[in-house]
Amino acid sequence: MSGPVGEEERKGLLSEETSYQEPKPEVQNSNWSIKKILLILSTFILGFLLFFGSILECWTRFADGKQQITLTNSNDILVSNGTHEFKPTVLMVSIDGLRADYLDRGLTPHLLEISRVGLRAEWMRPIFPTLTFPNHWALLTGLYAESHGIVANNFWDPETNSTFLYSDPKQSWDASWWDGEPIWETAGKAGLITANLMWPGPPITQTGASPTYYVPFKNKVPLNEKLDQLLQWVDKPLEDRPQLILAYEPSLDQAGHAYGPGSKEVNNSLVYIDTFARDLHQALADRNLSEIIDIVFVSDHGMTDTRHVEFIYLEKLIGQDLVDAIEHVDGWPSMGLRFHNKTDMSKALEFLTAAATNMPDKLSVYTTETMLERYHFNHNPRIAPLYIVPNIGYAVTTEKEGPSRMTKGNHGYDNFQPSMFAAFISDGPFSTTIKYNKRETTDAAGWHSTGEYHIINGFQNVELYGLICKLLGIESFAADTNGTKGFWDKYF
Ligand SMILES: [Zn+2]
Repeated sequence: MSGPVGEEERKGLLSEETSYQEPKPEVQNSNWSIKKILLILSTFILGFLLFFGSILECWTRFADGKQQITLTNSNDILVSNGTHEFKPTVLMVSIDGLRADYLDRGLTPHLLEISRVGLRAEWMRPIFPTLTFPNHWALLTGLYAESHGIVANNFWDPETNSTFLYSDPKQSWDASWWDGEPIWETAGKAGLITANLMWPGPPITQTGASPTYYVPFKNKVPLNEKLDQLLQWVDKPLEDRPQLILAYEPSLDQAGHAYGPGSKEVNNSLVYIDTFARDLHQALADRNLSEIIDIVFVSDHGMTDTRHVEFIYLEKLIGQDLVDAIEHVDGWPSMGLRFHNKTDMSKALEFLTAAATNMPDKLSVYTTETMLERYHFNHNPRIAPLYIVPNIGYAVTTEKEGPSRMTKGNHGYDNFQPSMFAAFISDGPFSTTIKYNKRETTDAAGWHSTGEYHIINGFQNVELYGLICKLLGIESFAADTNGTKGFWDKYF
């Protein structure tokens, strides 16, 4: 069998080497401590009254004594933190491979604290296939893979006769691969300044748009360096300051692949991520920005334990001749197959259908006609005509490949499986507003639970684009997406 295989599944996204390195101990920045103290002292007294005055005046609207507050929905408004003026701002960080229920391990007290003062979702569903590049582009564009065209981390395009390979940025980050409008392009159209720290995806889109500030991906950059960059952007003067700031961190996903989701290395990585979340959240609080900047932590997919996965050999399903006739394999562990032109496709389909019928607990097989509607994975020539989707606990391989391509943890399975679920945690004007409204209404639609922790119902990640447009007050500039019109209205 020829064709690219999913390097990500082998060694974790964008890692330059297979070995996972323990996160370095956190380094305290002494300059920052002095700055922090000065800022607190200078802003506390003056800022306190100004700040709450501004919040009431600019961010809330009390109507007819209903005590309903709403976001301004305007990007023109200025709010003071006591020393500086700010426009609506969203800072969103993607923690690759942060499985939704990792937060229940007792290892992320700070992320939980952020979700206590803010809120979190029960889960956020990734798009199918549950891989890094399709999902990071869905998070930014609000589109399913069939719409945005990144149908796997590696795939063949029959129209251009070329291969997308995520591990070759020179080729794969060419704008022609990436359909749809990322949120930073929408924000740019609305006249906003934007910043992108390593978010997977192209630095420039098909229309020639690019973020105002852009830092390309580099592996193993310590999180305290990323924190410094994010705060540098936050600390810029108003006329240069980005209102949409994006950042990306891959180390948790790399640990999940190398050691499995239940490993101590993943737990160590969770503590490392949690410390970063605390520092970022605290740095905004120190600047009196907790009710000015919406901070959002998201992830692209979860992770399942694949140490004891059962391998199903393709030769046994379709025979050696048909395996030899495979020309392209797209993605993995869910895999699209393309055969040489002269191959009897009906034979391959017959064998695979029989296999799926005989082993419904192990795998499913789909064609363009039978692809599950809920995958939203059909209407694009880049999607292979035959797709094998193994169930959790199984993987398909060949005699030649054997079990070699499987890591101890993996993703890429059915996006309705809880172990594939991503996370969503937020604090800022967004959470303050909708929590306040919830308290004032008897209709708690959309709330999973109440009490100390505020947990909204799980949602599909293509809805995120609409939320960010709303928070930035740029809904009138929004592109068409696969998200639900008015999806967030029930919360506001
Ligand atoms: Zn990922």
